[in-house]
Amino acid sequence: MGKYLIIYWCFCNIYTQKFVCFLLTPTTMQNEHLDLKNDWLQANNTPYIIAGPCSAETEEQVWSTITTMKDLNINAIRAGIWKPRTRPGGFEGVGEVGLKWLVEAAAHIKKPTMVEIATPQHLEIALKAGVDMVWIGARTTVNPFSVQAIADALRGTNIAVLVKNPVNPDLNLWIGALERVNRAGITQIAAIHRGFSSNTKTIYRNEPNWEIAIELKTRFPNLPLICDPSHICGRTDLLLETAQHAYNLNYQGVMIETHCDPKNAWSDAQQQVTPTELAQILTALHQRKPDNTNQITDEKLQHFRSEIDVIDQELVNLIARRLHVVHNIGTHKKLHNIAILQPERWTKVFKDRLTQSNELKIDESFVKHFFKMIHHQSIELQTKIFNNGK
Ligand code: PEP
Ligand code: MN
Repeated sequence: MGKYLIIYWCFCNIYTQKFVCFLLTPTTMQNEHLDLKNDWLQANNTPYIIAGPCSAETEEQVWSTITTMKDLNINAIRAGIWKPRTRPGGFEGVGEVGLKWLVEAAAHIKKPTMVEIATPQHLEIALKAGVDMVWIGARTTVNPFSVQAIADALRGTNIAVLVKNPVNPDLNLWIGALERVNRAGITQIAAIHRGFSSNTKTIYRNEPNWEIAIELKTRFPNLPLICDPSHICGRTDLLLETAQHAYNLNYQGVMIETHCDPKNAWSDAQQQVTPTELAQILTALHQRKPDNTNQITDEKLQHFRSEIDVIDQELVNLIARRLHVVHNIGTHKKLHNIAILQPERWTKVFKDRLTQSNELKIDESFVKHFFKMIHHQSIELQTKIFNNGK
């Protein structure tokens, strides 16, 4: 009887349900699925902390760095064994011998290990050495052939795999790599956000482009997301605020490069912290309330607000960039004695922006208002340049 009632209920609701789903589900969310083992990374929603040197350099350096972290609240130890260098001739990692140092030191403090692999051979050697987890680096994620070769080698291993974002800001490449690994039967997967290359000079070594990670998280809510502030920042003074931002966005953990003597590190010397500094960062970090199905509306609101903050920060950056160009134009006009206001040019700019905004269904009066303000500000700025030291 109960069964028939349920069927009847489903039948009555199916059209409204479908309609509601249609309204709530962006097209991008359809047909996307990663088959993940539930909660494999975290216990009790505590952040997952990965720490360790950028590179294994010597047995002493590995031992000293790792054993000094004995009492820290960290979950796994990292070390680069094979280093992907942009140009040949740099330090390309110590290779296989470093695995032994890593596994021994980590065993001493009873923590699991992880290394970067870029080829099936790396995987084979790492597994033989007893490494517990592997990650695919940014320069490998970018190449579907390399990722597929690794995925094929992963088949049947049952090892946990973390996938860094590709060097370029291409979410699909990142998702593609995660899917390739998942289709090889790996269900313990996490994504690592380490920022993206950019030819615009900013305070970051790799632009965070938070919105890309947010989109990933939105499309794959069960996929654990780890922030690597070390490679985003490229410097130590921004680590805390960047890691905190990740926590604010409900990331599941952080990967922070740690070295017993950062200044003399053989790679990424600028961005590594000592175990003591790591301890300070971890203490200062505020964990945020994780997703909680009982407070779903509350969490959704927080998520939207974080998204708004990130977009607004970008908006302000964009406005600053635009004003910088306006400034250059002002200097140029002054030098060549050209009038500030060129009605034809302004009419065209205004019309083009309206057309573009209309296509994107942005309210027309808002766009008009917005661009008139922008234009007004540009004229003000250029007038100042004209008046300055005339
Ligand atoms: C690293 O983690 O040391 C590394 C090389 O990272 P990425 O792939 O993010 O550059
Ligand atoms: Mn590094």
